[in-house]
Amino acid sequence: MAHECPDCTFVANEGSIFTGWGSKKIGKNPELVGCFTMPNWVGHSNFYIFSCSLCGNNSVDYPHGYTSDGIRNGLLYLSCQNCNAIKPLYGKDVYRASGMPAPPSFWEVLKQTLAMRKKLKGSEV
Ligand SMILES: [Zn+2]
Ligand SMILES: [Zn+2]
Repeated sequence: MAHECPDCTFVANEGSIFTGWGSKKIGKNPELVGCFTMPNWVGHSNFYIFSCSLCGNNSVDYPHGYTSDGIRNGLLYLSCQNCNAIKPLYGKDVYRASGMPAPPSFWEVLKQTLAMRKKLKGSEV
């Protein structure tokens, strides 16, 4: 049975989402196209259009999890339909919309590192 809810739009495939967006000028950050479901899907997902930094083509995809690539570990990502390059997602709204915890920001990581260092110093006394 097809997924039906008032929040999403049913499309036949990713190509139909892309129609009308292919030639749109996309900035550095992925743009939300909308919420869609497809044949054989049990739920729905937000789709984003983005400009691939490797091949330069526009592509449409939904967030996948997770990257396992050194410092970019544990991020949601979009993948280019053209060359399969990965576009990590940093926008907190993307994570909120997917119900995922956002990755720590640069400052949060820094704060954690400092707190840990303080702790280490304390235990030396
Ligand atoms: Zn839905
Ligand atoms: Zn590409």
